[in-house]
Amino acid sequence: MPEVSDHRSPAATPAAGSRLSEIPVTALRGAGPRVAARLEAIGVRRVQDLLFHLPLRYQDRTQSTPIGALRHGDEALVDGEIQLTQLRYGRRRSLVCMISDGTGRLLLRLFHFSESQRRALERGRRVMCYGEARRGPQGMEMVHPEYRLLAEGQPMPVESHLTPVYPTTEGLSQGTLRKLLPQALELLSADGNLDELVPTEILTRLAFPPLREAVLYAHRPPRSGDETVILPTRRRLAFEELLAHNLSLRQLRQKLDQKLAPTLSPPGFLVKHFLHRLPFELTAAQRRVADEIRADLEKPHPMHRLAQGDVGSGKTVVAALAALQAIESGFQTALMAPTELLAEQHLKTFSAWFEPLGVSVAWLSGTQTGATRRKVYESVALGAAQMAIGTHALFQEQVAFHHLGLVIVDEQHRFGVHQRLMLRDKGARDEIRAHQLIMTATPIPRTLAMTAYADLDTSVIDSLPPGRKPVDTAVVPEIRRSEVVARVLDACCKGQQAYWVCTLIEDSETLQAKAAAETERSLREALPTLRIALVHGRMKPTEKEAVMVKFKQGNIDLLVATTVVEVGVDVPNASLMIIENAERLGLSQLHQLRGRVGRGGQRSACVMLYRTPLSPAARERLNVLRETNDGFKIAQRDLELRGPGELLGTRQTGMLQFRVADLAQHQALLPDVVRAAGDILSRYPEHIAPIVKRWLGDRVNYADA
Ligand code: ADP
Ligand code: MG
Repeated sequence: MPEVSDHRSPAATPAAGSRLSEIPVTALRGAGPRVAARLEAIGVRRVQDLLFHLPLRYQDRTQSTPIGALRHGDEALVDGEIQLTQLRYGRRRSLVCMISDGTGRLLLRLFHFSESQRRALERGRRVMCYGEARRGPQGMEMVHPEYRLLAEGQPMPVESHLTPVYPTTEGLSQGTLRKLLPQALELLSADGNLDELVPTEILTRLAFPPLREAVLYAHRPPRSGDETVILPTRRRLAFEELLAHNLSLRQLRQKLDQKLAPTLSPPGFLVKHFLHRLPFELTAAQRRVADEIRADLEKPHPMHRLAQGDVGSGKTVVAALAALQAIESGFQTALMAPTELLAEQHLKTFSAWFEPLGVSVAWLSGTQTGATRRKVYESVALGAAQMAIGTHALFQEQVAFHHLGLVIVDEQHRFGVHQRLMLRDKGARDEIRAHQLIMTATPIPRTLAMTAYADLDTSVIDSLPPGRKPVDTAVVPEIRRSEVVARVLDACCKGQQAYWVCTLIEDSETLQAKAAAETERSLREALPTLRIALVHGRMKPTEKEAVMVKFKQGNIDLLVATTVVEVGVDVPNASLMIIENAERLGLSQLHQLRGRVGRGGQRSACVMLYRTPLSPAARERLNVLRETNDGFKIAQRDLELRGPGELLGTRQTGMLQFRVADLAQHQALLPDVVRAAGDILSRYPEHIAPIVKRWLGDRVNYADA
């Protein structure tokens, strides 16, 4: 391996094509028209593009593992002598083959096999195979391993490097990719050159190893490679990938900054009246964030601000101040919430706050129909509704605003990034856009914010209103359920209220509702003296609303709920929360749920029930919640433990599915990424498109969104 400083690809401008960026993939053996079309579909046209189709992970086929050392779940290469091969007729006919290497025995199990395969697997032959070891009824087994028979005395053909596992698509198999990529790598190691898209100035500053070396390593890392070489080469690629994401979002932001937005700088009577009537003083953190928002709204370009604040930090008031600024300027405000329940609660809060000020509040729900719906549309279209509150129903095609000045999105982490981008065009009129305020209680660790929200300015409400006490959190096994039930009874007899949250990992609201209904029934039996009610996502909005009102008024002691109560629900007298199957949820989600208690003056508690056995890792995760009430710390741990998709709720969208970068591992790179992106945006704009294209491909083009 050359030294880090050895050579660097020349400072190519993206246009200066080297060979690999000119050779079509069809020049490779095995890339006929059909394969080429599949490659084209994922943006791979040239050999260079193919080289950036990087492995997801690796298999170790560089040496065989003693069978006796195999553990359940290991993927390994083994070799042994066939002891016995026989057909089994169970539920499914199968061929089983027992092999042994002196350290242990392993059963190979094939469901699809030919007669000649059966005959070849003769007792006494040596066989090598690669697969995943599982514990079966007769000890370790491998189902459908890849295998190869070895000739007498033949040394086992092992790989010299780790074997890459590539992302595949329909019609583009692992086998095909493993045939094509070595050819591309050969061209690269011979004399091929890759377009260096990062300006030399930045490369020099960061002393990265050459791109070529990094790509070669990524495809064929040696098994026990020198970490001082592997890690920098990996960092080199991660850097470029993070750079691509950052650039694409910031370029989008630059474009938005050129758009116009209404200047909202009214005298401020409404805000003054509102604050005057408010029964509490704003915290310093709320005032600071409100000031940042006010300054943005006074500018002639659209605001794009993310306001973060832990559960209970008081984001709603801050949103109200922004809304009043828009409304007093003669513009409408739309407030979108992720669930009906939360939207309804906002409707009540805002109606109580705004109607005394003479500001009209409209409600737009996905379940409204016919005449009701038409009336709401009309008042929104004519501008009679100064504030419109609802779920995503607010932004359906048919909804036209008269003069939309501000869009507020509450609890944004529950909306996919794509929805966020789509929202941007709402209220667009010619070149005039509405301002946008996005609020989230899932604190986004700074590293993640720099990546996923690089197009947004951020504000943080970093303290809670005075008098809040941290929620005492206990982690309790399911077998002690009866003690927990007794605790609920005790609390409710003292005049407190409680939540019992039923969780299922499935996204199905129907199943969740069913589970919650069953729990409610059993709790009613166990606690006949308590007033118990149920709320879940399958109920009609009016039914949900009725239950919530009763709970808020103190006419219900125990509310059995699904995770619909996760966000925003605000009942200060509720001081005890039980969460079932806590081990199945993410930490941030648990923290959100827990945030429903501890909103009043009294001490509050949260009991997380789990099913045994609990793995040590799961126990450690739950302990994080016992140890801290700080949402930022929790989110950081969640990011490390479960990755960004989990945190952002965007696992499905393809956003932030990095090929190389790993936010936990590479977060130290981010300041450099941000700085480099700044340099490129201002001084090397011609590099932006090719970098973004290389890493994001045609997958998501934020810049055109
Ligand atoms: P979140 O940030 O979770 O959306 P909310 O806006 O729902 O928090 O506020 C939580 C509770 O705190 C509400 O009951 C709200 O009225 C109250 N609250 C907000 N700001 C203050 C404050 N400065 N002082 C006292 N209570 C406040
Ligand atoms: Mg809220």
